[in-house]
This record gives sequence, C-alpha cells and structure tokens, in this order.
Amino acid sequence: MASGKLKRPPRLDLNPSAADRWMTCTASPGFILANADKLPPDDGTAFSKEGTTAHEVAAAYLQDREPNPANCPTPIDADMEWHGWTYADYVRGLRKKGSTLLVEQKLPLWYMPERNCIVDATVINPQGLHQIDFKYGEGVPVHPEKNLQEVIYVKNVVEKHMGPLGHEFPIFLHIYQPRGRSASDSPFHVWETTWGEIQKLARTVASNAGAIRDAAEGRMSYKKLVFAPSEKACQWCPAKGFCSARQATLTQDIKALSVITPTLPLASTISIEQVASIVRHKDQLAKWLNDVEAYALQFMKAGGKIPGFKHARGHQKPRFGGIAIAQNAIEKGLPLGRFPGVKQRHAEHVG
Ligand code: SF4
Repeated sequence: MASGKLKRPPRLDLNPSAADRWMTCTASPGFILANADKLPPDDGTAFSKEGTTAHEVAAAYLQDREPNPANCPTPIDADMEWHGWTYADYVRGLRKKGSTLLVEQKLPLWYMPERNCIVDATVINPQGLHQIDFKYGEGVPVHPEKNLQEVIYVKNVVEKHMGPLGHEFPIFLHIYQPRGRSASDSPFHVWETTWGEIQKLARTVASNAGAIRDAAEGRMSYKKLVFAPSEKACQWCPAKGFCSARQATLTQDIKALSVITPTLPLASTISIEQVASIVRHKDQLAKWLNDVEAYALQFMKAGGKIPGFKHARGHQKPRFGGIAIAQNAIEKGLPLGRFPGVKQRHAEHVG
C-alpha cells in the first residue's frame, strides 16, 4: 500500500483570517479556487510554521502545561517562550471573579459549518467578554477596530457558550502582537464595543459569505461578485501575482508605461510629462514589481524553473537577546530555566 499524505482537493476558502480580503474583494475566493493550479502547495511558509509553534507555546503557558511537540513544526526558541509567557500573563489579567477562560477552542464556523476555526483565547466575565487574538508576526500592526476575524470569533463563542445577550453587553476585542512595529509602545490594542455592534458587523459577513458560496455552488452568477483591489485586500492574497484586476489598478493611467518596454530609457530622453507620470506612479510600479517577484518565488517554490534564478532560503531573523530576556524574566520573577536561550552569563549582565 502506498504511504504518504493524500493531497486534499482545493476548496473554497472563507477563512476568518482572510475576511478583510473576501469581504471587500468578493470575487477573490472563487478566483483563487479556479487558479489553484498556479499556487504553490499549501505546506506553510517558514513564518506561518513559526507562528504555529509560537501559538502552541503561548497556549501552553495559558493552560499551565508543556507545549505539545506535535503542534510545533519548528523548534521553540527563547522569543516564543518570552512572548508566550507575557501573552498568558496579559490574558489572565483580564479575568474577573466567576470568569470562564477558553483557550484554542475549535468551533464550527457559523457561516460555513462544515469548516472550523480555532479561537486563540476568550475570557467570559459576568459583565463582559474579552476576545484575544495572538499575532506573532512582525511588521505592520493589526488593529482590533471592526476587526472581522475577531467579530467572527466572538459570534462563534457567544453562540456556543453564552445565552442570548443584550445589545449593550460589553465586548472587548484585543490584538496581542508583541513583535509588531508598534510593540515598543504597546504589545496590545483593544477595541471596546457592544454585542449589538458585533451582530451588525456579523450580518454583513453572513451576507457576503452567503453570496460567495451561492456563486461557487451555482445558485448565483459570479458576475454579482466584485474584484476590488486595494492595499488591504490584496496584501496577503495568494493570487496577487497573476490578478489582472490588481495589475490594472496598479498600472492605470500610466500612459508612459509604453515607453519603458522593452528597454528602460534614460529619464532625459523622455518627455517631461512622461517623467511626471512615472514619478507619480512609482509606488504602484514598485508594488507591481514586488508582485512579479512574489509570483516568481511562488512558482519556484512549487517546483517551477526560471532560468538564471535559484530558490534560496531567507536569512535568519535576528534573535531576541538573551540579556533582554534575562532582564525581563528577573523583573517578572520567572525561573530562568524556562527560557532556553538564556544562560547564566546573560543573567550576570543584569544589574
Ligand atoms: S489580488 Fe486583490 S483584486 Fe485580485 S483577487 Fe486578490 S484581493 Fe482581489
């Protein structure tokens, strides 16, 4: 009998984490599905594997257990230990008397019950619900205001674990992103809202998800869905390397584009209007070039060959310093043994 993992056929993806995309660009899930053969196998990027391990470490701290190696596709490093511990400390701090803590709850999606979502953490207090999403990514901070991923999770949790709520019942959406660009100001951001507001946003999710499914299952014409390229929608779209709607938006009005193919002219040899047009659109051109590069990387990752290029592994990111971890751990009264990257010599450097 042959061994090995059976490849799952591509499916329509309405993942909560991509809701910002499919709620604006409603044509994107069908487009991605129709072009599944152009995408690399979904075996996770190095960043997503690192995020999976970091989530397991954080959940383990919150549940006071050891991380399950089966849920850790990468080695656990000192950054994960430290950020996981601070996240757990933050979540525990939200609990009030009589609260319920839910960790890594797997729940059927209310708008697509045959699929599940995993909710990082929820604190249900008698007088309010706190929904916390742990983001391990570096870079652009994610904000909780009207965050559709969290809206979806809250509705899932309320339907499964709580009875009917009043419109004014307080709901707090938290994003805990300790490595985001604004983490030096604060690793967390909170949006305080109400169950009534969550329901209003959830109704728009239900309406768009329903339309996307209807089109995919032949109950509605695809023409009623829209391609809506935007910075936010396209940022993580796996199809952006070959999406003509995005390309058209990035290169619209660049009449001067015709002069830069097939060779790039000297600026002094084109008209000043053409120079102005190119300068005005330089950001779009840069994004288009980045899309082409991302597509080339995807193509090579999937086994494709591009003459003159090799798919190389990215360089290692810098590590969170042992001295900094030791200092934080000592301030919090944590045993240094929990942080594998910390050596006695690091602790000796701390005051
Ligand atoms: S690249 Fe942008 S416009 Fe194209 S399908 Fe993806 S989200 Fe929609």
